[in-house]
Amino acid sequence: MRTLALVAVGELPKGFPALLIGRLEKETGMSCEVLDESVDPSAAYDSVRAQYDCRKILPLLDEIALRRGDLVLGVADVDLFSPIFTFVLGEARLGGDTGLFSLHRLHPSFYGLQEDQELLWARAEREALHETGHLLGLEHCTNPDCVMKFSASAEDVDLKPAEFCPACAAVARGAV
Ligand SMILES: [Zn+2]
Ligand SMILES: [Zn+2]
Repeated sequence: MRTLALVAVGELPKGFPALLIGRLEKETGMSCEVLDESVDPSAAYDSVRAQYDCRKILPLLDEIALRRGDLVLGVADVDLFSPIFTFVLGEARLGGDTGLFSLHRLHPSFYGLQEDQELLWARAEREALHETGHLLGLEHCTNPDCVMKFSASAEDVDLKPAEFCPACAAVARGAV
């Protein structure tokens, strides 16, 4: 069975990405570890948009995945975009080896609210699990009680559980 390797993409708040391990292991049945190495996202910076291009970060994670033979989930704290979207919370290749997500728009402080570590962690668990689900071949799910439901915003993330629905759990477990 392959391991899910978590890699910091740039600087992260204290405790990340290690505190995501428990939830990811429980829900996917994979073993999960935090790598010592990190990825520098600076080459993916788009100075016009003042955001970082996911599609330039994923190849850096691909190199790690190829070298290790693991699935690799990058965890960032910078604002991410994909060319056709104004921003993305995360991106992963369906059934691929690499994905990433960012804490940037999960911070309550991003919306002018008081920072709340527990809320940030809860959102981050959902986003980490969601992107990992894509790596395990899961597409978006219409079940509102499933972490694979699409989230366009942090508020959407709050509405879903940090769990797969039974149907998605079966696919995820079958893939690892
Ligand atoms: Zn998704
Ligand atoms: Zn589902």
